[in-house]
Amino acid sequence: MSTPAANRPAQVPYRRIATEEAFAPQEMLDIYNKILAKGDVDIGFKNLMGFYMSSPSERAQHIMRGLLDLDQVRIQHMDDTGVDVQVIALTSPGVQIMDKETAVAFTPTANDILAEAVRRHPTRFVGMIAVAPQDPSAAAKEIERGVNKLGMNSVVINSHTHGEYLSDPKFWEIFEAAEAHDTPIYLHPNALPKSMIMPFLEAGLDGAIYGFGVETGLHALRIMTSGALDRFPKLQIIIGHMGEALPFWAYRLDYMHAATVKSKRYDSMKPIGKKPSEYMKSNFIITNSGVAWEQAIKFTQDFIGVDRVMYAMDYPYQFAVEEVHTLDAMKMDAADKMAFFQTNAERVFKIPHAKA
Ligand code: MN
Repeated sequence: MSTPAANRPAQVPYRRIATEEAFAPQEMLDIYNKILAKGDVDIGFKNLMGFYMSSPSERAQHIMRGLLDLDQVRIQHMDDTGVDVQVIALTSPGVQIMDKETAVAFTPTANDILAEAVRRHPTRFVGMIAVAPQDPSAAAKEIERGVNKLGMNSVVINSHTHGEYLSDPKFWEIFEAAEAHDTPIYLHPNALPKSMIMPFLEAGLDGAIYGFGVETGLHALRIMTSGALDRFPKLQIIIGHMGEALPFWAYRLDYMHAATVKSKRYDSMKPIGKKPSEYMKSNFIITNSGVAWEQAIKFTQDFIGVDRVMYAMDYPYQFAVEEVHTLDAMKMDAADKMAFFQTNAERVFKIPHAKA
């Protein structure tokens, strides 16, 4: 899978900082193997990690090798594709598929493993803090430890936790801690919950092709309509995959949200401070992970602002050097392209600006 040197992306006047890159420590895969061995394993999890951890296909083998490595394999792949820095998160579903006790016990181990890798490769890796939403108080404490002890400045949450959403106020201690520590939350996809997977699964559409985007977009929207962003107005949420298509929905979301609130149709849909499109502009940052498409990137920059759209590759799941060439070649103002690849990520993740 390595790229011939002749096909490597050219030197460019910006650092390419890829912001949705994944890893999986063997210690977590050992826990996954125990979960997969149980009779009543979650169908979405079985179809996702059950596949990647056991398939002999070239794609699955490449992904497992990339996920497990935090040294030479990963850095070689970064060099092959011209990625200067990876912002790395515990791969989906992280600890969120585990029972509460296992998740709370394992989360600091996962974060320590990543922090150690960042210490080994401080100019190439940046870490995100994993948390266990199963225990919101423990999650809030881990955010504090991640910032103060591990030097990490962002949090990853892999969408729903056992079918529950962060729009539920029982999780808001996590939002409170993230806002207080100025750590954006990367709301990354998860396998679809049991309550929604079947129509997707029977057509093979439950994964990154479509289902992930539907479910994560729903999650982001639920956070907006819950009023959480009125309570935590400085909270920043990062969503990948061109905002899980929410920018393209924005007009109709605004219209129908206002109409639904006015009609008092749902107890769960109360008046909130802003329109959905306004929360997108004040509380969301969008990455292009897996979408190397100039028109979609420019539309999103125009909609929520060039300072809110960032580059991501989605390594190792979508590892394609052609996409880096395509993005380098975008017909875009040089300052806007630098914001996309470099300076937005430096600001959002507090990455030192100097090239080491
Ligand atoms: Mn991803």
